[in-house]
Amino acid sequence: MSAPLPPMRRHRARCRETRAGLSDYLDGELEEPHGTERHLRWCPSCRRMAVNLARTVAGLRRLPATRRP
Ligand SMILES: [Zn+2]
Repeated sequence: MSAPLPPMRRHRARCRETRAGLSDYLDGELEEPHGTERHLRWCPSCRRMAVNLARTVAGLRRLPATRRP
């Protein structure tokens, strides 16, 4: 029961954490951004997601506030 998670399971857990905090990270509001940065450096799928999200966030910010539903 107390065995450490196998690397793949640990990786998945880290991915989930990273993705959950991505928008805060991109806003610079994450208290501990280093873990996210390190994960993004070696996890291509989370990195791609971060890039896409950054692009989306940048696009949303260009929209006038009045166009929000
Ligand atoms: Zn990941």
